[in-house]
Amino acid sequence: MNITDDIKYLKGIGPKKAALLQKLGIRTCYDLLTWFPRAYEDQSTLTSLAELQPGTTATTSGTVMNVQERQGGRNGRLSILTAMLGDGTGYLQVTWFNQKFLKKKLVPGARIFLTGKVEYAYGGRGQYAMSQLSSFQILKAGDSPEAQTGILPVYSATEQLNQNFFRKEMQILLGNLPELPEVVPQAIAQRYQLLPRREAFRELHNPPTLTALKTARRTLAFEELYLIQCGLLLLKKQAREGQHGIRHLENSTLVKQVMAQLPFALTDDQQQVWQDIVHDMQSPEPMRRLVQGDVGSGKTVIALLALVKTVENGYQGALMAPTEILAAQHYEKFHTSLTPLGIRVGFLSGRLTKKQREAIYTQLANHELDIVIGTHALIQEGVQFAKLGLVITDEQHRFGIAQRAALEKKGALTPDVLVMTATPIPRTMTLTVYGDLDVSQIRHLPPGRQPIRTFLRLPDRRPLIYKYVHEQLAKGRQAYVVCPLIEGSEDSDLPSAEEVYDELRYGIFYDMRVGLVHGRMKAADKEAVMQDFYKGDIKLLVSTTVIEVGVNVPNASLMVIEHADRFGLAQLHQLRGRIGRGPWQSFCILVSEGKSENARERLGIMVNTNDGFKLAEEDLRLRGPGQFFGAMQHGLPDLKIADVLSDMDILLQAREAALATLAKKSDLSFIVPILQQQYHEHFEHITDA
Ligand code: ADP
Ligand code: MG
Repeated sequence: MNITDDIKYLKGIGPKKAALLQKLGIRTCYDLLTWFPRAYEDQSTLTSLAELQPGTTATTSGTVMNVQERQGGRNGRLSILTAMLGDGTGYLQVTWFNQKFLKKKLVPGARIFLTGKVEYAYGGRGQYAMSQLSSFQILKAGDSPEAQTGILPVYSATEQLNQNFFRKEMQILLGNLPELPEVVPQAIAQRYQLLPRREAFRELHNPPTLTALKTARRTLAFEELYLIQCGLLLLKKQAREGQHGIRHLENSTLVKQVMAQLPFALTDDQQQVWQDIVHDMQSPEPMRRLVQGDVGSGKTVIALLALVKTVENGYQGALMAPTEILAAQHYEKFHTSLTPLGIRVGFLSGRLTKKQREAIYTQLANHELDIVIGTHALIQEGVQFAKLGLVITDEQHRFGIAQRAALEKKGALTPDVLVMTATPIPRTMTLTVYGDLDVSQIRHLPPGRQPIRTFLRLPDRRPLIYKYVHEQLAKGRQAYVVCPLIEGSEDSDLPSAEEVYDELRYGIFYDMRVGLVHGRMKAADKEAVMQDFYKGDIKLLVSTTVIEVGVNVPNASLMVIEHADRFGLAQLHQLRGRIGRGPWQSFCILVSEGKSENARERLGIMVNTNDGFKLAEEDLRLRGPGQFFGAMQHGLPDLKIADVLSDMDILLQAREAALATLAKKSDLSFIVPILQQQYHEHFEHITDA
């Protein structure tokens, strides 16, 4: 047998089963082999009937003493078989529903091996009962129950392809398993004490002991993480090598001027990040750097400096932001501070007319603009740069890797690349998700900020909350009110932005200017409202999540989030990051009935911490990696066996091993074909040249 053979050639699988398997994505024997157990049942200890404990799951065995059959259920159509088992130490009553065919086999004297949940028996002779069996087996003459014990794999099964089918076919496959080519170079396998692959697969599907299972799992998780790390590191290496990057010169007048004009001194962290960037930009290889820093940590000024540096060297720079509002805000800021220095800054977004857009295209192609700031519109077909030297994406987690790459291809040269994100992923995950980038972190917020204080309140407190907000606005502050929906609907009692807007402006805030901004408004209207809020004319801004990322109004020190349970943790943290940007004590009030346990737990975490890293970790824990990463566009292969949270130590080792592989020519030529084969769609551009 060949491991790449079509699954239909495996004994016990005909065309029908093969078609069903195909629906699960299992086409070859290898696909079946990597259909990893989702759990295990520990049947390694056999409990005697006298030792059973109600409420636990146990593996036991006994001899059938008598069997009863009756009809039950609402219309008497349910067949119920009840057998009394004994083993000399005690009795157990076992029930099967709708398995009439078992009656022939469950004759007195038959011996049974079974695993299930132990319950108290109602009536009957035994003290305990089992009606939820996870597995059972009628023993043949001569079989001993001890011989059946073990650790059983539990597969994701379907109605037509049940647990027993997978267990049986896996045994057939393992029994015929050919030699499998190793995918980890031998020296590395030795160094990290990995099992041979064939053995690892065998023990994973058929573990003799829990210790053996652990070793097998570790081997295969290592292999998976190692391959992905090799792929990412190769991508990173190839993006630099052979590419003629731009060698920027040392900082000169323009950069120094802008630096001198800043209204504040850079923090130590910002200083360090800026040094990293200067170093990268001045080196002949293209920069590929991620700047990670919590909301409000001051990433924008770093982007500004980097853009000025590329312009100073005679190149153009581009900054892409995920929302119109954020792009416009950056544009206003940069335009105002750079125009006096003779730097030409342009804006490009979907809201421009065709004519306006084309004017920008021409200016970019003719190098009549030095910097362009915009939304996704920057990666449209018509955009071409005369001399693109630096590409920045702000809030990268909102973009896919593909979009970032599209912008990088907009010039004839290989531009430097800077990516900024407010850490929606735990620190420990950076290596996997952004494995192809160098990372700089801003760990501390600028000085003089007071930590935001967050409260959780029931909706009946709204009058008091808004009274307090009104007082604060009267003292000169500004505030946000965030709502989950734009407009009200009949089948929802959630407060919509429009309803809350009307309630507040005609109610307690009748004497102040209240604004409304949401995603369905025309770009120009949105822009006008935001401008008035920036200027301080609008005191209270009612909005949807359109203000979630990037918006910066330091005078705003209050935020009320209506129906806070409707938002994810990462999103709440981003929203809350709009306040706490000035010298005043800021308050965030989460309004929620918080009916579900999960909602209360999430909001409780918001109240207790302002630390984005911690929140991301909690979010990942609460939602599980599937959903957490599903919401992010990272463009990485799905992990089949490794677990991003609990396998951190394996990940670090795999990364270390992958680094060693890259440095060794023979290992590299070994690994590249494997990568191309196993992760074709992710790493197809990789070569070992
Ligand atoms: P983010 O990292 O969320 O993008 P911003 O760049 O918007 O954060 O910065 C948040 C606020 O902090 C802005 O008002 C900015 O002017 C201010 N800021 C940035 N760096 C400093 C600093 N070193 N000292 C004081 N204030 C700073
Ligand atoms: Mg920002």
